[in-house]
Amino acid sequence: AKERGKNKFYVYTQELHNEYSRRLEIENALREAVENEQFEIFYQPIIDVKTGHVASLEALIRWNRPEYGFVSPTEFIPIAEETGQIISIGRWVARSVCRQIKNWQQLGYSLVPISINVSGMDFQLPDFMERFKEIVNEGEIDPKWIEIEITESALMNDIQHAMQTLKDLKEMGVRCAMDDFGTGYSSLSYLRKFPVDKLKIDRSFVKDISNQENQAILRNIIQLARNLRLLVVAEGVETQEELRFLQSEMCDYVQGYLYSQPISAAGIEDRFLK
Ligand code: C2E
Ligand code: CA
Ligand code: CA
Ligand code: CA
Repeated sequence: AKERGKNKFYVYTQELHNEYSRRLEIENALREAVENEQFEIFYQPIIDVKTGHVASLEALIRWNRPEYGFVSPTEFIPIAEETGQIISIGRWVARSVCRQIKNWQQLGYSLVPISINVSGMDFQLPDFMERFKEIVNEGEIDPKWIEIEITESALMNDIQHAMQTLKDLKEMGVRCAMDDFGTGYSSLSYLRKFPVDKLKIDRSFVKDISNQENQAILRNIIQLARNLRLLVVAEGVETQEELRFLQSEMCDYVQGYLYSQPISAAGIEDRFLK
């Protein structure tokens, strides 16, 4: 038994060590990625359930790491948040999206708004608004083409600041969505006060649609959004069955592999804009 205990400890420290060195390695590689433009933005369409048309696009970052291939944002974003690199990554994303909007506009395509994911760590900084405004101004685009997605937990972190920043964004003409809704501590009293325009229902509630409890949750979130006069988006819609249910519950928008995975800007042009 003692022997096994020892081994267990060994395995444990080894794992910790592996995780630590992987982290360090990613941190260093991220530094290069920021400098050498190894990022790309993919776009995933968000569909208006009533018309079946693309209502907006969500910008999702991709890191094509030389010799490794694509690294998932679920792996590197949390590390970038810890190291502070998320600030320069966020800036890169916002600039790139502005450039893309301008480019599509110049090509004469009919635009739809593009939503950007903003890290809570970035959003809560006192100068977030100032930096964001500067990027949009420099991008020379109408702010109405940009939307922001922010998780509910990021908003709950510093409520005063969140409230003010959301107000400033609204004034500027930038719409805001509360991302991953249902997964954090949703304080419903604040939800009513936050000037957000949309709720994005987390994929976990959409996944097992045959489950009665998930159906009840979905139904209630959609109803809540309606009562608060918020638009509602269901994420991760993969099947016709899921779509049918959301349709019958009058969900406004859906997003998921059923329509399209996130794809490159060129792919978006070919499939949706031309
Ligand atoms: P998120 O904002 O909740 O984005 C939705 C994720 O669900 C995306 O994963 C998308 O590819 C995936 N997805 C969409 N439809 C489906 C579906 O039908 N089935 C399944 N299984 N998945 C679906 P992705 O692109 O890997 O991004 C993961 C997370 O990384 C995002 O979650 C977001 O939190 C973060 N992230 C991505 N891009 C950025 C960025 O530019 N900035 C920041 N701060 N975070 C980002
Ligand atoms: Ca999102
Ligand atoms: Ca989400
Ligand atoms: Ca998520």
